[in-house]
Amino acid sequence: MPDTIDINELHWLLDIVQSIDVGVVVLDRDYNVEVWNSFMENHSGISAERASRTSLFELFPEIDQSWFTHKVETAVMLGTRAFTIWEQRPNLVHFKSYQPITGLADEMYQNVTILPLRSSTGKTDHVCLIIYDVTGVAVNKRQLESANTKLQELALRDGLTGLLNRRYWESCLEREFARHQRYDNPVSLVIFDIDHFKRVNDTYGHQTGDEVIRTVAEITSQLVRETDFAGRYGGEEFVVLLPGTPLDGAAQFAERLRHAVEQKVLDYQGSPLTFTVSLGVAAIGDDMPGYQALLERADKALYVSKEQGRNRVTLDGGQ
Ligand code: GH3
Ligand code: MG
Ligand code: MG
Repeated sequence: MPDTIDINELHWLLDIVQSIDVGVVVLDRDYNVEVWNSFMENHSGISAERASRTSLFELFPEIDQSWFTHKVETAVMLGTRAFTIWEQRPNLVHFKSYQPITGLADEMYQNVTILPLRSSTGKTDHVCLIIYDVTGVAVNKRQLESANTKLQELALRDGLTGLLNRRYWESCLEREFARHQRYDNPVSLVIFDIDHFKRVNDTYGHQTGDEVIRTVAEITSQLVRETDFAGRYGGEEFVVLLPGTPLDGAAQFAERLRHAVEQKVLDYQGSPLTFTVSLGVAAIGDDMPGYQALLERADKALYVSKEQGRNRVTLDGGQ
């Protein structure tokens, strides 16, 4: 197809134009309507008779006039066709969508081709707009995108608790460690483990054990900041990485967490069920060769908490 077509040829096409399922509008150089096909009649509710000789901008006040005229004038000047696509601008004119999937698209998504029309004298004195209904494509693509985002999210998270899984959490730790080496910002780590958890499982059963794990995760999620990384490190072992937080700030967080878990009461067949956690806290220091060292030091502190009677916070005291 040539970039421009003769206006006389268009009359041959008009019969076809009436029956095809795209919008066809021909405008003069003042943006007044000359051709308005049945697609346009059906979707706008405006008859061809009424639309004729009326300004496009009067018919569709929603059109961004300066953007649209710039687009058209450029196409006319260059003598080439121009396009608008739904990914950049969902539509040119507001038509109701008749898609069966409600809620996802109330308005028709449109791709539009702008086609300068040359008369027999060689002058471009008309412009043709072809409006395609791409709602189906757009809705499918949007649905696919949102499904993909959800899947990606799921791959990073632990199924029982919704916290970051160990592998992903460790990649975050690695990244934050590298960032610290460049910018020297404080980074702390809190690691904690549910106390006497075997007893919980043995006494109340595995399902209740799972419920306790979920509850601890929930309390943790409520206490962390947006910028923290909370992960499930093992069965009933958790980690929180706190970028921008020095050791004393992390210690305060750990104590708040310890207290919140201690206060929590679950209902087990009418009886109260409580539980505690032991915590270890460490911050990245200049003596640490890699991120594993931070984990080891926090883990050692956690071990001290266990040894000293559990339900407590221990800070890393150095090597
Ligand atoms: P401690 O105070 O020293 O931590 O004692 P503990 O009994 O908690 O000891 P430990 O941490 O070694 O025990 C972990 C137990 O957690 C063993 C395992 O059966 C149980 N466990 C691990 N993952 C899960 C899980 O996903 N669900 C349940 N219900 N139990 C789990
Ligand atoms: Mg454990
Ligand atoms: Mg334990």
